[in-house]
Amino acid sequence: MSEFDLGRFEEEAHERWIHAFESNPSNLEKFYLNVAYPYPSGAMHVGHGRTYIVPDVIARYWRMKGRQVLYPMAFHVTGAPVIGISKRIANKDEKTIRLYRDLYKVPQNVLDEFVDPLTIVRHFAGEYQRVMTACGLSIDWRRRFTTVDPTYSKFIEWQWKHLYEAGHVIKGVHPVRYCTVDENPVGDHDLLEGDKAEVVKFTLVMFRFGDAFIPTATLRPETIHGVTNLWANPTVTYVKALVDGKAWIVSKEAAEKLALQDHTVEIKEEIPGKDLIDKKVSHPLCGEIIILPAEFVDPDMASGLVMSVPAHAPFDYIALRDLQQAGKYTQIKPVPLIKVEGYGECPAQFAVEKAGIANQMDSRMDALTQEIYSAEFSKGKLFEKYGGKPVRVARDEVGALMIEKYDSAIMHEFDQRPVICRCGNKVRVKILHDQWFLKYSDPAWKQQVSDHLGDMSLVPAEVRAEFDRTVDWLKDWACTRRVGLGTRFPWDTTQLIEPLSDSTIYMAYYTIAHRIREIDSKLLTPEVFDYIFLGKKSDDLPEKKKLDAMREEFLYWYPYNYRFSAKDLISNHLTFQLFHHVSIFPKDKLPAGMVVFGMGLLNGAKMSSSKGNVFLLEDAVSEFGADTVRMFLMGSAEPWQDFDWRNELVISTKKQIERFYSTIMELKNAVGEPHDIDKWLISRLQSHIERTTEALNNFQTRQALQEAYFGIETDLKWYRRRLPENCDGSRELHTLSSVWVRLLSPFIPFTGEHLWKELAGEGLVSFAPWPVADKNLVSPRVELSEELLSRTVEDIESIMKLIQITPKAITIALAPEWKHDIFRTIARSTDRTTVIKEIMKDDSMKKRGKDATDAARQCTTLIHRLPPQVVAPLAQDPINERDVFESAQAFLEHEFGVPVHITDAEDGVHLKAATALPFKPAIIIE
Ligand SMILES: [Zn+2]
Repeated sequence: MSEFDLGRFEEEAHERWIHAFESNPSNLEKFYLNVAYPYPSGAMHVGHGRTYIVPDVIARYWRMKGRQVLYPMAFHVTGAPVIGISKRIANKDEKTIRLYRDLYKVPQNVLDEFVDPLTIVRHFAGEYQRVMTACGLSIDWRRRFTTVDPTYSKFIEWQWKHLYEAGHVIKGVHPVRYCTVDENPVGDHDLLEGDKAEVVKFTLVMFRFGDAFIPTATLRPETIHGVTNLWANPTVTYVKALVDGKAWIVSKEAAEKLALQDHTVEIKEEIPGKDLIDKKVSHPLCGEIIILPAEFVDPDMASGLVMSVPAHAPFDYIALRDLQQAGKYTQIKPVPLIKVEGYGECPAQFAVEKAGIANQMDSRMDALTQEIYSAEFSKGKLFEKYGGKPVRVARDEVGALMIEKYDSAIMHEFDQRPVICRCGNKVRVKILHDQWFLKYSDPAWKQQVSDHLGDMSLVPAEVRAEFDRTVDWLKDWACTRRVGLGTRFPWDTTQLIEPLSDSTIYMAYYTIAHRIREIDSKLLTPEVFDYIFLGKKSDDLPEKKKLDAMREEFLYWYPYNYRFSAKDLISNHLTFQLFHHVSIFPKDKLPAGMVVFGMGLLNGAKMSSSKGNVFLLEDAVSEFGADTVRMFLMGSAEPWQDFDWRNELVISTKKQIERFYSTIMELKNAVGEPHDIDKWLISRLQSHIERTTEALNNFQTRQALQEAYFGIETDLKWYRRRLPENCDGSRELHTLSSVWVRLLSPFIPFTGEHLWKELAGEGLVSFAPWPVADKNLVSPRVELSEELLSRTVEDIESIMKLIQITPKAITIALAPEWKHDIFRTIARSTDRTTVIKEIMKDDSMKKRGKDATDAARQCTTLIHRLPPQVVAPLAQDPINERDVFESAQAFLEHEFGVPVHITDAEDGVHLKAATALPFKPAIIIE
């Protein structure tokens, strides 16, 4: 008898799996699934583990269902991050070295070579493959590639030629996120913080201050009529600068930002913030006002000075109130200018007082501000003396007027802060000229994507709204970078295609990746790819035979069935890939489905490599075993829910696998003749098969494990209790073992392979046929009888616990026929509120009076409590309860060690017997 030893099972299986998952076109129906390829710049943690294990479970499932399955993997090495990492290592940056040497455990001699960025990605790509293999991922590794392979670059050039010809690649002037240290636009992947921040357009309102202007940024230029003062931060040093030749007073940060936004900026002198306080400024639309002190003014927000509209901005209102409560500036009164129903004369004051907000620190301030801003925008109207127009109209008009007549300018700024680059620098908004963009703003292109989304299967269904939203708001995307690794941009070879733009249709490249390597990349003209992917014939195609083989692969595998990815990629990658697909491929080659994942937590906190809050996948595998890691990750949450890694829970998962292993080892040799209870066990097994299958069809890994593991385990426990004394299980247990091992194999394939061999199964369990439920083996009456018996046993046990006496005998009193009539009538009725009245119309029931109404009420409650699959058959056809208990009498007497009597409730011996109901006999313990 072999011991439970996950390490040994892993070794055995790895040996047998070499080349097993390499998948070629065949006459079987295909199932092609893929995951976002990793950027290998560090070690994998258990969060990554789930990302790749969920698709592996699904791949293994469909393989057993007889599909030809393709699960490929590649490595995305495009972009700048790895260049920054190698620079920091070359500069001996302690933090980076600690991360790589101590957390990722890179040996010193390898680390020394990390001064070359390609060495980093090659090292970690190798590590990824090694750890993925250790986890049992059934990947076709022949198709592995990296995004800097010359053949891949040719493929990207072909892709971009098509995008360009379709008019999706344009050159223009745009505000972009920009890092002044890297001198590069900043993509979502390059951000340490602030990935939700959007660039918005502020109007700079220019207040005259002697010979200079003080600009303040606003999104609500119409409120100029209600400005009562400016706010300046007395602790900040401002500067006077010549901006396009005119003197402006702004924060230092603002001067730096303006220089990135098409202004010439020349700093003349510094001005301490306190020198501005109490000074006067003026604007033609609000007259002369005063500058007041406020430390909440952030020099890093827009111009670093703020205009104050206390009648309509809660923050301004409270800041002014604070000063006035200290006896200062009491002459200033809020100046309302917008009428908005339900908010009184002065909306900010009204809302603040109604909410009972005491100071600026109140956490409800942001929400309150949002509430007023949107109320004013949607239903506010300016006062007659300011033109009387709705806010939504006046806003644009006043803004335009200011630019035309009152020296205003536009300033681009993020709507939230901070926004931090991976290098640690603050990200700025820069206006880029001659920048290349993908024109995701194009309504016709958006429409194509929306149309296709409607045909796609999205899991879970709730993500559909988020995809729709993303397609809707997606703006033009800066698609090239100056530095980094990747494919040169064909129309300006000083630029590179950035990472989120060269990773959109590579799922098609997987289908040919292992074959295209055999062709010299110099021969890979656009015509070659046109032939492989679009079937366009042209003269002089090289290596025609090889191209035909690739065309065949593509036609067989594409489109992919499902793509798996984390939910934070909906707003970029997952949507981008749809844009690119609809532009390049014909309708029958467009993606069919997507499954979107939740996030991983470690002991309740978000996993993050940069914060060191990770548990490395390799450590997890060597400590707990690959099957344990897999079963824990699949069983603790459904894929789209967040999961939380906790070592103590992982340990109990390992014990579950061990229990499963020893149970199978014990059951597999059972040879006895079947008993009555075997019929029940095999009947139940059919529904576990059915429900596990259904769950996996829907990607519910947790639900599937509940059925396949705990469902069967619980049944076995009951089965063993019900076996006659001194009886081992029957040969049916061998059947059950075979089914059970196969149902769990997608989750714990290493243990699965070992046990399959022990069961003398044919070939690898990885390719064994998935169990199919056999309707002929289902016996609803038998299941119902056991349900009644096990519920009654539970009732007896809980009563015994309650009364705490040593019983001498147990009596089970069965409900009389008339109660069964009531039960059936209620169970069948559609309207349970009137059914009691209906019952009482019957003469025989009328005679029973209160007894009958009581029984009807009790039956109603009982029916509510029983599962529908129990009530439904009982509503049609009662079971003979007496038979059930009489044939289980020996079992019951053995269980409880006392004589068990079965009697009719109305034999008059026991008073308590009157409480007996159908499916719930009365229990009398003496
Ligand atoms: Zn940077």
